[in-house]
Amino acid sequence: MGQALPGVDSLGDLDGRRVLVRSDLNVPLDSGTITDDGRIRASVPQIEALLDAGARVVVCAHLGRPKGSPDPRYSLEPVAQRLGELLGRDALFVPDPEGGDRSFWQQTDFAVLENVRFHPGETSKDDVERGAYADRLAACADCYVDDAFGAVHRKHASVFDVALRLPHAAGDLVRREVDVLNRLTRDPQRPYVVVLGGSKVSDKLAVIESLLPKVDTLLVGGGMCFTFLKAQGHEVGDSLLEADQVEAAGRFLETGKVVLPVDVVVATEVSADADTKVVPADGIPAGSKGLDIGPRSVEEFSAALDGARTVFWNGPMGVFELAPFAAGTRGVAAAIAALGDDTLTVVGGGDSAAAVRALGIDSLLFSHISTGGGASLEFLEGKELPGLTVLEG
Ligand code: ADP
Ligand code: MG
Repeated sequence: MGQALPGVDSLGDLDGRRVLVRSDLNVPLDSGTITDDGRIRASVPQIEALLDAGARVVVCAHLGRPKGSPDPRYSLEPVAQRLGELLGRDALFVPDPEGGDRSFWQQTDFAVLENVRFHPGETSKDDVERGAYADRLAACADCYVDDAFGAVHRKHASVFDVALRLPHAAGDLVRREVDVLNRLTRDPQRPYVVVLGGSKVSDKLAVIESLLPKVDTLLVGGGMCFTFLKAQGHEVGDSLLEADQVEAAGRFLETGKVVLPVDVVVATEVSADADTKVVPADGIPAGSKGLDIGPRSVEEFSAALDGARTVFWNGPMGVFELAPFAAGTRGVAAAIAALGDDTLTVVGGGDSAAAVRALGIDSLLFSHISTGGGASLEFLEGKELPGLTVLEG
């Protein structure tokens, strides 16, 4: 999919033209403060390139999940300000997701519209309602660039319908994502090792299903490993367990490609000052929760990664947000980061990318850190993504 995605060059000379850019600015906020600006930083190069080419740029994006009406908690204003700081030029914030009467163009060459999800048309299932909003967005500009890989799996007005209304192109970020994800699915270099963690097997079932035949080894940590341990017949105490996925986990184990943790960090509560203990994976005491993989598991996972030529990592190995349960994620991330330039190393998933930053691991040590969580997984599952299909046409 997506091989023929037209890039920004295909739009021709952009000098003086108005370009609507759909960016992925969906950052975590804590009462109005941006706690991780990774996605904003990732959006900067494409916007900068357009401005440098003389284009007049209006950015649109979503933030959080407001319910189709204005909700000050999810205003893009602080994000617009941060974007302006990173670019070194002021962004005019337009407090209307439709761009008002477009008179903002009289004041600036660089504007950011309010959260598209403040508009009921953005996520509407009704083509007419979505189309009506897309008409308003399209009226703001002469052409459209989609650089929001994290949203391409959504059939939303600012991702899908607007591209039907304007000359369009895929931004560099989208093209790079597609290129890297294609390398993970088409003829990957071997050995190919996938590391999965995070909270739920059910979220990742389809991606395991589609990647397992292609990989040499699948390392499973995080909350989802307990469903696999259960499938091996072990008790998992109060750890995360998806009873309805045990059978599927058992099927995956039969391939002989799945490697599980041999030890686990347990505690009775999920807190930063919990008393922790390392126990064998087949000896999790009743009443305790497995919250990270243990040190021997980190060694075994690192050994399995050694010599790999392609690595995809999605999902933290433990509750990395809390210091007592961060070592597994840090250890595995360090092992992947140490693989060197001959190995394609890809990190996917919002929390995994956040973990890399939060644990202070140099992101340049990875070949690629995907900004799109759900979208990357759906791509790897082989699903058709509306926001990409529409750019091909
Ligand atoms: P990503 O966003 O990278 O795809 P997920 O959303 O699947 O990752 O999972 C991230 C979450 O999984 C984190 O918030 C982390 O705290 C949680 N997690 C990891 N290991 C465990 C565990 N053993 N028990 C409970 N939660 C876990
Ligand atoms: Mg997540």
